[in-house]
Amino acid sequence: MGKAIVLDGKAVAARVRAEVKTRAAEFARSRGRPPGLAVVKVGSDPASAVYVRNKRLACEEAGIKSFAFDLPDSVSREALVAQVKALNADPLVDGILVQLPLPKGLDANEIMDLVDPAKDVDGFHPYNTGLLAQKRPRLRPCTPFGVIRLAHEYGITLQGLRATVVGASNIVGRPMALELMLAGATVTVCHTRTRDLQAEVERAEIVVAAVGKPGMVRGEWIRPGAAVFDVGINRTAAGRLVGDVEYDAAAERAGWITPVPGGIGPMTIAMLLSNTLDAAVARS
Ligand code: NDP
Repeated sequence: MGKAIVLDGKAVAARVRAEVKTRAAEFARSRGRPPGLAVVKVGSDPASAVYVRNKRLACEEAGIKSFAFDLPDSVSREALVAQVKALNADPLVDGILVQLPLPKGLDANEIMDLVDPAKDVDGFHPYNTGLLAQKRPRLRPCTPFGVIRLAHEYGITLQGLRATVVGASNIVGRPMALELMLAGATVTVCHTRTRDLQAEVERAEIVVAAVGKPGMVRGEWIRPGAAVFDVGINRTAAGRLVGDVEYDAAAERAGWITPVPGGIGPMTIAMLLSNTLDAAVARS
């Protein structure tokens, strides 16, 4: 077993969910209705089906009403647009989540841009991303926000530290870099054009891996004592879930490390619930 402290995302997520449950009950008492989250699933992607089911269950457990919309692969652009507009207008819906990826032929950017920013609990709308970039966050992307919350819960101070984010997608890597800057870290972002990934990781006191390739971040690259947050979720041929970091070797060197599963995954769902409460309170 490694020397690193294992960051128990499952336990911290349970605490966040308990907080949300208390807030949701208070909201329901004072407003006469529960907070509501609409979860829209389009098509039959098996991974999406699992994520959507988990999100809906988590809502019900926390006292958030979940509105389910399961649209077929063949749904037209017009019908999906109409669905999102109807949810924007529905006063019982505080948050709207459109599960990605969308089937071929549908433009995810177009659909995300349609979601009312006040109901954008995924934090993917350019308006919310822009606010985060300008140091005035409102609804914050759940996965990066979950990393920050987990670090905070374990007393890992990010201010002044060198952070390297591996991955630069719109939903994880980029907002992660913005969150780390907001927290006062000095941030490097790596992607497929990065010349020397190893050197960028070796320098880092905080490493966030969000690539989608098992073992991409080698254990021997980890700076002794670094905090390692592994966002990656990959299924091996044997059916096991693994992250993007070579876990055992990294855990020998790191000060803190998140497991996969049980690290960032549960935090992401917890922050979605927390965002839904924030959106509900801000709207009412
Ligand atoms: P994307 O495929 O959208 O982005 C991957 C990023 O990694 C891109 O920026 C890409 O660079 C970069 N990349 C790919 N190969 C390399 C390489 N060899 N060296 C350096 N950078 C590389 O993935 P996502 O951001 O959506 O997701 C990343 C991982 O996180 C996946 O495993 C996903 O399942 C997981 N995930 C987990 C969540 C959770 O709740 N725990 C939530 C969301 C995602 P470029 O920009 O140049 O193409």
